[in-house]
Amino acid sequence: MKFVDEYRDAGLVRRLAEETSRLAGRRELTFMEVCGTHTMSIFRNGIRVLLPATLRLLSGPGCPICVTPNRYLDQAIALSRLPGITITTFGDMMRVPGSTSSLERERAVGRDIRVVYSPLDALELARRNPSREIVFLGVGFETTSPGVAAAVQLAGSRHLSNISFLVAHKVIPPAMRALIEGGVAIDGFLCPGHVSVITGSKPYEFLARDYGHPCVVAGFEAADVLEAILMLVRQAIAGEAAVEIQYRRAVTQEGNKEAQRLLNSTFDTVDSEWRGIGSIPESGLSLRAELKGLDAAEKFEVEVEPTLEPKGCRCGEVLQGRITPNTCPLFETACTPENPVGSCMVSSEGTCAAWYRYARMPGDCL
Ligand code: SF4
Repeated sequence: MKFVDEYRDAGLVRRLAEETSRLAGRRELTFMEVCGTHTMSIFRNGIRVLLPATLRLLSGPGCPICVTPNRYLDQAIALSRLPGITITTFGDMMRVPGSTSSLERERAVGRDIRVVYSPLDALELARRNPSREIVFLGVGFETTSPGVAAAVQLAGSRHLSNISFLVAHKVIPPAMRALIEGGVAIDGFLCPGHVSVITGSKPYEFLARDYGHPCVVAGFEAADVLEAILMLVRQAIAGEAAVEIQYRRAVTQEGNKEAQRLLNSTFDTVDSEWRGIGSIPESGLSLRAELKGLDAAEKFEVEVEPTLEPKGCRCGEVLQGRITPNTCPLFETACTPENPVGSCMVSSEGTCAAWYRYARMPGDCL
């Protein structure tokens, strides 16, 4: 097994890129990554410029903040306006625009909204402030949902009655199915590394079996990503479709059974709304019936404003790989990381933010 430093080796990167170019030849191939950290790694390491122009890399709905719908943000904002409530959230959520406001703007006008680094910080806040109601915003994929599940279980076992969770966790494989059924034209998936540490590689098997799409679970260093792309090219050229693991130092077929047990005892799988994409069957998590006392959506009645999507924003098409950010008329003009119009420009892992940051540099990676 190679260690992380070996996957940063320039010679290895060059050899993998040359082998991929030789094997792919002039064949037109398109692969999609569905993980924001892969998107950033591809841009940061200039991987596109190392590959033949006929080999395209598309970004899918891999940024958890980007796929969280406006209505969820609006609900969190409405909760923050109730007296006695403290909202706790990961920092990425602060600047995401809701229909007419954002958590950052609400904090500026005096709402008690705090950035935490772990859901356990929210638990501690609840313990120390028994007179306040603490709400934790649970968003993200299988990477973050086990931590939130652990916090939910702890809140229950410690009988903390002043904490609740507004849950909008997502599950990635159903979104991959929805993309294929929606007609996205790709030749294979670069499957997410962090998510797969928890889930294992098995949940992707239907993509190979039912849809004939090669899948490779990849790590995050330059050589990880290139080796995974080479593995995808090998499958595509051979006309094969299987699920392979490149990121063997962290991912197994079965995943983390303990984390899976925790997720299953905390959440039910439900249909879920993805920003710009719509409802995807069985793609979200909701607190199980016996834990509904910890569900902020059940605990507090709030009037949520009608949802307004940002005018002209094409995040939905970006998240489905239908357009690249530079074809959105607002890119770099009305929409920048300083003044984001859509969520894909806010998060550091958003596709529009990645294009803004890296694709405009000399020797860019388009
Ligand atoms: S550039 Fe801005 S407005 Fe356009 S799709 Fe991306 S986030 Fe939306």
